[in-house]
Amino acid sequence: MNKPQAPVKKNQTVTLNFEDITHEGSGVGKLDGYPLFVENVLPGETAKVKAIKVKKNYAIGKLLEIETESAERVTPPCNVYFQCGGCQLQHMSYQMQLDMKRQQVETVLKKIAHIESVSVEPTLGMEDPWRYRNKVQIPVANKQGELITGFYRKKSHDIIEGMDRCIITAEVNDRMVEAVRSIADQLGIPAYDEQSHRGVLRHIMARTGQETDQTMIVLVTRTNELPHKKQLIKQLTETYPNVKSIIQNVNQERTNVILGKRTLCLWGDEYIYDTIGEIKFAISAKSFYQINPDQTKVLYEKALEYANLTGGETVIDAYCGIGTISLFLAEKAKKVYGVEVVPEAIEDAKQNAILNGITNTEFVVGQAEKVMPWWTAQGLRPDVIVVDPPRKGCDQALLDAMLEMKPDRIVYVSCNPSTLARDLAILEEGGYQTQKVQPVDMFPQTSHVETITLLCRQTT
Ligand code: SAH
Repeated sequence: MNKPQAPVKKNQTVTLNFEDITHEGSGVGKLDGYPLFVENVLPGETAKVKAIKVKKNYAIGKLLEIETESAERVTPPCNVYFQCGGCQLQHMSYQMQLDMKRQQVETVLKKIAHIESVSVEPTLGMEDPWRYRNKVQIPVANKQGELITGFYRKKSHDIIEGMDRCIITAEVNDRMVEAVRSIADQLGIPAYDEQSHRGVLRHIMARTGQETDQTMIVLVTRTNELPHKKQLIKQLTETYPNVKSIIQNVNQERTNVILGKRTLCLWGDEYIYDTIGEIKFAISAKSFYQINPDQTKVLYEKALEYANLTGGETVIDAYCGIGTISLFLAEKAKKVYGVEVVPEAIEDAKQNAILNGITNTEFVVGQAEKVMPWWTAQGLRPDVIVVDPPRKGCDQALLDAMLEMKPDRIVYVSCNPSTLARDLAILEEGGYQTQKVQPVDMFPQTSHVETITLLCRQTT
């Protein structure tokens, strides 16, 4: 049997019309039905591209020249956009980003979950989709005796030089990273070197509460010892009164994971504070905290609207992190149970309940897929369940437990439309109907899509 041949050869140049876009933001052009994926090309454009990787069913191309430009193309304002890879959509108008995210959710729900009857709402976007990130983690390296910081060049571990800002990050975090870099450089604190696994300073993390202006600095080191730490702390805290917490995190592994196991407070509090709506949160170095505070408020208000609480309900918040959604809902519910796998986050959740004088919450450490069946066995029957799982979606055991608990409503917050669709299909099969699907743009300029979905139990 003849193997089907790809209609292009490696290094061949072709001119194509682009009609679609992938989840990662690459343009899709077709040659007799055979797709070529090319970064930085938009639907509606005609472009000359070179095939750089050719497979049986698809090819990856490199853009050589745009021949017909889309009206939605914009000049990326970041001067390292094409090198960095942290953002994927800066060359696209913001309206097109929002439309594309809505379209993606709709397509995947139809394709994977066969949900045809619900229309996906227009994506809720930001008025000013820049400078939104409350946290930045930047690698440190040594360049000819000087300490440098910057994100890695796409698909590499080379730091992009001359990168003095990240325009999706809050300005204060840029300033703090530069302050730490320059003080550490003056003091001669050695940068970590990945090749030799020697040196000290691996990453600088800065996280700032948008509403409180309190900054936490985390210095990620290979060694337990951080040389010149006293001078570093003195200079930082004397110059920057917004710094409320300086943390050292020790990561001795050869790994891409940024934070290591050991965390110690070098100066100030172990926490910084922030508020979302009326609720105040204490945030520690290792806790998950949503990175876009303005849109978090939009998302949580949608969760509250979909939960439709009247004061008498029992609610479960699965994958609750530091209890953000739980506390947001608690005021309108009789009781909220939260479950989360990171013990430090549950500690924070309990503290956060106390901090806000909230007494109708209960937080449990554990895997949601184990704790939910246990709760079911204990006879817990919530009226509403909120789930906010990581990218891989809900575990089957958790979906089974939800179906057994039979809540009236399920509010599913998802950061991955594909696993959302897979899980919705299972919940629909189990007697629920998808009623509302609302994408919220938590990560402008990037291809990440966040969606909140309301499911109601069908009573027949
Ligand atoms: N709802 C929270 C956190 C969402 S992020 C918020 O809005 O801030 C997802 C959370 O799920 C993370 O805190 C992560 O630690 C947690 N998690 C991951 N796997 C889990 C599991 N199997 N069981 C419980 N929690 C888990």
